[in-house]
Formats: sequence, C-alpha cells, structure tokens
Amino acid sequence: MLGVQLLGNGKVAVKEYPDPNLTGNQILIKVKDSGICGSEIKSFLAPNLQEFNDGHEVTGVVIDSGKSQRFKIGDRVGVHAVWGCGNCRWCVAGQYTYCDNRDSLLGAHAELVAAPDHVCLKLPDDVAFDVGVLLSGDGMGVPYHVSKRLNTKGGDFVCIVGVGPIGLGNAMMQSFLGAEVIAIDINDYRLSLAKELGAAHTVNAQQTDPVEAVREITHGMLADKCIEAVGKVETVKVALKLVGKAGAVVTLGEQGDVPVNISGNLIRYDVTLMGSWFYHYAEYPAIVDLYRRGLPVAKLITDHFPLTEAQTAFTRFANGQAGKVMLEP
Ligand SMILES: [Zn+2]
Ligand SMILES: [Zn+2]
Repeated sequence: MLGVQLLGNGKVAVKEYPDPNLTGNQILIKVKDSGICGSEIKSFLAPNLQEFNDGHEVTGVVIDSGKSQRFKIGDRVGVHAVWGCGNCRWCVAGQYTYCDNRDSLLGAHAELVAAPDHVCLKLPDDVAFDVGVLLSGDGMGVPYHVSKRLNTKGGDFVCIVGVGPIGLGNAMMQSFLGAEVIAIDINDYRLSLAKELGAAHTVNAQQTDPVEAVREITHGMLADKCIEAVGKVETVKVALKLVGKAGAVVTLGEQGDVPVNISGNLIRYDVTLMGSWFYHYAEYPAIVDLYRRGLPVAKLITDHFPLTEAQTAFTRFANGQAGKVMLEP
C-alpha cells in the first residue's frame, strides 16, 4: 500500500509500505479520507525522519472484517483514535480515554488502516467520508466533549483562544449550542473562518488587546467560559485574564508546567480551571445527532488533496492558510 512518511524539516514522501496484517479483533479498512491534525505539525517540522506518519483521523470501507462480529465487508466506518482494552469499567462505559491500557491509531495517511473492531464507528449513509472524519475524530469529538465539560448554555459568552482546526471546531460547536463566541487569534484568515462558522466576534490579538476587547463585548463582565486551544504558557495566562467571575477555563493545547496564581486567578473569583482530552466513544451518536440537526461540519473542511500530493497538503496546513485538510488515497 502507499503511505505518507515524514522525512523531517517539513518534508514528506509517499512510498510503498507492506499491507497491515490483521491481529486480534482488528478489521482492515480501505481509507477514503484522512484528516491532518494540528498535533501532527510538531513531528512534520521536527528535524528527524519518522518511520511512518501520525495520521489518526480516518474513515473508509471495511475490506476484511477478520473475526469481527460487528462489521462486515463493505461497511462504512470511522475510527475512534484513542482506544482502551475494551473490558475495564471505563471501556465498558465507552470512555476509552480513561482506560489504563490505552493504545492509539497512527499511520492513517495511507491506503489501508487496521483497527480493533470495538473502536470502529459505523458511518450512517447520510454522512460523507470527509464529514465522517470530523464526526468520528478530533474535529467534532473534541468540541463536543468540551461542550459537556463546560456545560455550555445559550447566552454564554465563550472566548476561544486560538482558532486552528480545534479552535474552529469549538467556535462552530459553541455557536451552534447558543453561545456568543469571541474568537481570538493572530491569523486573520482563520479569524474569518471562525466568523463563517458562527463566531459572533473576532479579535486579532496582535492589533487589539484581547482583554480590553472582551471587556467591551461582554459589558464589563468578561467571559463566562474560555477555551484555550493553542498550548502556550502565554495563551493560558490570557485565557485566565479573559474569564469573568465564577467562570471556567478549559485547556486543550498540550504542554507542561504553566504558572498559575492560585489566589489571584482562581480562588478569589471562584474560577474553575480544567483540562479536556479527546472525546468518548460513547459520545459519537450524540455528535451525529447534532450534525443531523444542522451543525455545519462540512464548512470546516477547506481542502481535499490526493494522498500523492501529501507534501502540498501538509505545507498548506502548516502555513495556517487552511481549515481542515483531507487526504484522499
Ligand atoms: Zn488529533
Ligand atoms: Zn479499558
């Protein structure tokens, strides 16, 4: 099969790999679409050569159902990219991200992908393969899970710090759920996308002080909720300044230590600071429901490239001039 190899320093190659051999309860999927995730950019730009690629957002058609009782050849599927053992108390509840024996999908930018049957999700016939990548992967999964963590209500002022694909997905989800979204970034192209996806306000933090802008928009109250989707010390600090009294900040951008003033940022204002990671397998039907009620998922996808043009696709994505980018073998 053909697959994408990360060569280092922003270069990729499309080369021949052996087809996956099915083990355990795996099924074999012929890939139709794979999405490039913001989390892949670090290894794309890193100086070292990788064996394969970090693709983990994928949909396709089952071409070998192995020992599966749940799937048959021809089924259209997505893959929940983080999976658990399938047997512990968390897995039984469909909460694979809490399992102590987790594994995850890699190498989705390829013609074929193998995945355990208990982490595959059926794509309804009315869901296109590219939209299915977002419904079954990070694209909508993360924003949906965040909406549950934040308990989003209509009328909330929600600041989104950083509108890369994950921030954009949150802008869409929060707006759809009735929040008045304030998108903050330094990339005007992505701010305009946030607006198209439903954000009520946009702030370019290089041109305008975001705290002052948010204070004005919220009539001095500051935000009810803040979603940090960058993963930098400064953006967490900004999010903590943007949140109002009794508000909540959720961090999505991966990073290490960030200094937080416990009294000044949290205690004196009853502010909640929380993390949120990926989404739960069990949440997938609710995400599909939102899509059917009009969540404009397809608008987040700005580009489709053939797998063989992976270099152009990765470069375009890494330059920040795209929403969600799909690769299609
Ligand atoms: Zn991802
Ligand atoms: Zn488990």
